[in-house]
Amino acid sequence: EEEVSEYRKNLAIRVSGFDVPRPIKTFEDSGFSPQLMNAIKKQGYEKPTSIQCQAMPIVLSGRDIIGIAKTGSGKTAAFVLPMIVHIMDQPELEKEEGPIGVICAPTRELAHQIYLECKKFSKVHGLRVSAVYGGMSKFDQIKELKAGCEIVVATPGRLIDMIKMKALTMSKATYLVLDEADRMFDLGFEPQIRSIVGQIRPDRQTLLFSATMPRKVEKLAREILTDPVRVTVGEVG
Ligand code: ADP
Ligand code: MG
Repeated sequence: EEEVSEYRKNLAIRVSGFDVPRPIKTFEDSGFSPQLMNAIKKQGYEKPTSIQCQAMPIVLSGRDIIGIAKTGSGKTAAFVLPMIVHIMDQPELEKEEGPIGVICAPTRELAHQIYLECKKFSKVHGLRVSAVYGGMSKFDQIKELKAGCEIVVATPGRLIDMIKMKALTMSKATYLVLDEADRMFDLGFEPQIRSIVGQIRPDRQTLLFSATMPRKVEKLAREILTDPVRVTVGEVG
């Protein structure tokens, strides 16, 4: 009996907000392009995880979201797949005017994992992803950014550097993801996050993911998200 209740606890899903789109059961339910469906199959993803079932229709409908789920629950695809759809829906952008999608993560390692996942799904539509974190010289980074990209995956510090150096502009960015928000706060990136958010147009779509929701993160979420839907999977936050 104990085991069963533990299992239920891990599966517990709580959703709050107005007019919440219904969860999907399969990737097909999301109406992804055939190219994207192929990439999903190629990744070996047969069906969406709990957070993906709940979050993807919400994000695809254009709503802001707070997603709270533990590590390993598949949060990356939950924001990357709808981001590809969001970008493909935008009018053709001119070079040097990107990015449209901006993803911030706390560390270089985490940002790199997201970058790899983004590449797998973005290349089927010819979208360009730039990695904005340590590991590449700033000179090469600036050169790459100036060539143009639709998606940037960044750590907050390096992103601010690149904005300051005018290597990229946030004027076309309409899809902002703050991944592992609690860890970004733990690492002291709150001022950088606020600065980045302040440079992105207020009519953007904002997604905040976190394993836990400390009061400081909750406060930021209240300030920067518009009528968010909150999805909690499992006994976290
Ligand atoms: P989180 O960000 O929640 O910690 P990740 O996005 O890193 O989780 O995903 C954890 C692992 O699950 C990764 O190896 C990823 O490739 C895999 N994964 C994600 N979605 C699915 C899916 N729908 N089916 C099978 N595996 C998946
Ligand atoms: Mg993650």
